[in-house]
Amino acid sequence: MNTETTQKVVYKQIGKYSVSNELFLDLIFTEKCQCNCKFCIAKTPEYAEENFERWKKNLYKTFEVFDVRNIVILGGESTIDKRFFEKLDILKDVIKDKNVSNVILTTNGIVLRNKTFLTKVINSCINTINISYMHYDKKINDLIFQANTLSKEELKEIYKTLCENDMTMRLNVNVYKNNLDTVEEMQNYVKNMAGLCNEIKFSPLMPTNMFNTVPEVIEYTNKVSLSKEEITQLYDNFSKTCKIISENDNVFGLVNYKEVNIYEQSVILKYAQVEDTYDLNTVIPTLKLYPNGNLSNEWSYLKHIDLI
Ligand code: SF4
Repeated sequence: MNTETTQKVVYKQIGKYSVSNELFLDLIFTEKCQCNCKFCIAKTPEYAEENFERWKKNLYKTFEVFDVRNIVILGGESTIDKRFFEKLDILKDVIKDKNVSNVILTTNGIVLRNKTFLTKVINSCINTINISYMHYDKKINDLIFQANTLSKEELKEIYKTLCENDMTMRLNVNVYKNNLDTVEEMQNYVKNMAGLCNEIKFSPLMPTNMFNTVPEVIEYTNKVSLSKEEITQLYDNFSKTCKIISENDNVFGLVNYKEVNIYEQSVILKYAQVEDTYDLNTVIPTLKLYPNGNLSNEWSYLKHIDLI
């Protein structure tokens, strides 16, 4: 393993991969979920078999090798992992004396309606919660998730509790055909959800063929994804309405493939700068740690990077 510098990025060469030394780390606690979204990126032909000891060992090793700056806990639905709090305790120990600025939980939020569970999350090392919530109408949201998702009252209660504890909450929304695919519908979402979160992130749904998902998900996401031109146009039109929206003092982010764009400059400009795929010469900014302890730069535990 060598440490090298290219332009401003310090990276480590691990096998054929160049990985940024200042790392974003995604922790996939479990690939399972109690919901059944048709576009779910976590639905792959085979799930990684859990190996807690290896997971723990590779977590510590990752922090030895890299300067981890940001952690996102992902799924599947991490809150249904039977070791959820045990893993958070380990994480708390790993990050002490480190440079980690954020530990973010990304969740469908369903388990957070349990107040005891929410209190334990607040007392953990997590400081931000991102709740995936696809439509401002709960009935439609339930249909999308195929589950009894949080009501607006429950979202409000959770948000209030998080604010009281100096934590932030973001709603994550996917934009795709027939779901918030017009400026009016995006505005409706914002109007309905203003006051229930610090930030709303609109991400374009993408075809998942590059992510090793099952054929039904690939077929569905191919059918409903907007083209890059369509999404760019939609975002640009939506950005023109943001002055009105920002009166609520919320921050409204738009997301492209890799980063949140806050409205400071033309969305088209930023969106156009983003490449669709990595190539091997690109320095990898993010690694994912799977439940079996594999580290990967992709949405698949199969292609892994070995640190040990
Ligand atoms: S809530 Fe998330 S992890 Fe669960 S099925 Fe939907 S997209 Fe997949």
